[in-house]
Amino acid sequence: MDTKQAGSLIRCFGCKAYNEGNSKYCLLCGSKLHKECVDCGTKSADHLALHCTECGAKFEVIADRK
Ligand SMILES: [Zn+2]
Ligand SMILES: [Zn+2]
Repeated sequence: MDTKQAGSLIRCFGCKAYNEGNSKYCLLCGSKLHKECVDCGTKSADHLALHCTECGAKFEVIADRK
């Protein structure tokens, strides 16, 4: 039996769909799944992260447009 862990899923910022943790783009809407630091390029998939954990720069707000 395939006991696949569901712990590494990441959520789309746009449509809130769950995607595999290694995905780069949402399987439903095609949005980027990671925030990217404009200063150092560090990526974060944490929806709660407001600042880069490497350099402290503020992440660009990805607007949740309706
Ligand atoms: Zn999406
Ligand atoms: Zn940074």
